[in-house]
Amino acid sequence: MSRRYDVCIIGGGAAGLAAAVSIDRSLKTCILEKNPIPGRKLLATGGGRCNLTNAACAGSRKTLDFFASIGLETRLEEEGRYYPYSGRASDVVKILADRADEAGRDLYLNCEVRSIQKRDGRFLIRAEEKSARGGARDAAPVSFDCGRVLLACGGKAGPQYGTTGDGYRLATSLGHSLNRVYPILTAVECGDMEDLKGIRARGKVTLKKDGVPLASETGEIQFTGDGISGICVFNLTPLIRAGEGETLQEALGRFEVCLDLAPDLTDERLEGRESSFGILTEALAERVPVEEIKDWRLPVRGVKGWRQAQCTGGGIPLSEADPVTMESRCCGGLYLAGEILDRQGPCGGYNLQNAWETALAAAEAINAAAAEK
Ligand SMILES: Cc1cc2nc3c(=O)[nH]c(=O)nc-3n(C[C@H](O)[C@H](O)[C@H](O)COP(=O)(O)OP(=O)(O)OC[C@H]3O[C@@H](n4cnc5c(N)ncnc54)[C@H](O)[C@@H]3O)c2cc1C
Repeated sequence: MSRRYDVCIIGGGAAGLAAAVSIDRSLKTCILEKNPIPGRKLLATGGGRCNLTNAACAGSRKTLDFFASIGLETRLEEEGRYYPYSGRASDVVKILADRADEAGRDLYLNCEVRSIQKRDGRFLIRAEEKSARGGARDAAPVSFDCGRVLLACGGKAGPQYGTTGDGYRLATSLGHSLNRVYPILTAVECGDMEDLKGIRARGKVTLKKDGVPLASETGEIQFTGDGISGICVFNLTPLIRAGEGETLQEALGRFEVCLDLAPDLTDERLEGRESSFGILTEALAERVPVEEIKDWRLPVRGVKGWRQAQCTGGGIPLSEADPVTMESRCCGGLYLAGEILDRQGPCGGYNLQNAWETALAAAEAINAAAAEK
């Protein structure tokens, strides 16, 4: 026997929880989450502090109002970044989960959705529910029957948090297409740099393709042993992509990063210096002669994969969802929210903003559609 609901939310992450809180209480709603806890990725966001949104986002006011309405105060920090006032991502997850519970939502944990079918205007969702012990042999098939589905199961970045791209398979089975997906907001590999592992330096990073600058970012550069990391590096990775008809491997040879490790010092100030030690730390100074301190070139050998990526490039085309209601244009009654969509921003709260914004829009539309009936 299928469990019957007005609305099933697939994915108990950022978008799924925000929608669960906002869908009208009169609508019998459940959340299906494959992990044993809700909001596992949210707990890891912002280094455990959860950078909720950014003042530069047009929709940030609505997000802040939403969190204030559920009792979560926020704090503005540098570069427009908002965090929970307590500075703890776990408080964001707890308040969302508590409010969803108070709204009467049924939360099915260890419940992995395998398929969705639409029949006679309703959806049949098939899932596997694992027991708390969690072994594959303990999994039991379960099914849900509902009038509307919100697909909020994220992208492919950070599979260790439960996001393994299932949403793409579910959406395409209901008629959607998929723009090629690739890991973004991740570290860049530049070859062996073991001697620099753990060193941090403030600088400007410029990404070049065929020698032509594509973009620059300034901030803390972290040397990882086989490349560079840090927010300023992450933000350049969406641009490291293969062109038409070439593989990423073929494209990589065309990219390089140029580091200015003394962005505040003019060439005149550096004139006559014999070593970069005294500006740079010793290990870095041994690698970077003073003539190269403002333009140290490193080849791009690769970008770190899904496990290290903070976001997914590509996804379900935005054009396939109504921008106001987030209802699918391919399948009526299906709504899409969060990272499953092909819409990404840089580090700084932009991607969570995307999740809240699309989830709240979908919840409003679901409420309005129910009220019309
Ligand atoms: C380490 C890290 C730090 C980050 N820090 C920030 C930050 O500070 N600020 C910011 O703006 N962005 C940050 N991001 C990005 C941000 O977390 C995501 O963009 C955002 O969580 C996406 O929300 P979502 O609801 O679409 O997906 P998620 O929050 O990933 O939730 C999707 C949920 O769906 C579940 N699921 C998947 N498949 C199924 C299935 N078949 N059945 C049932 N459940 C399923 C998953 O287990 C998961 O819980 C960070 C990402 C990472 C990895």
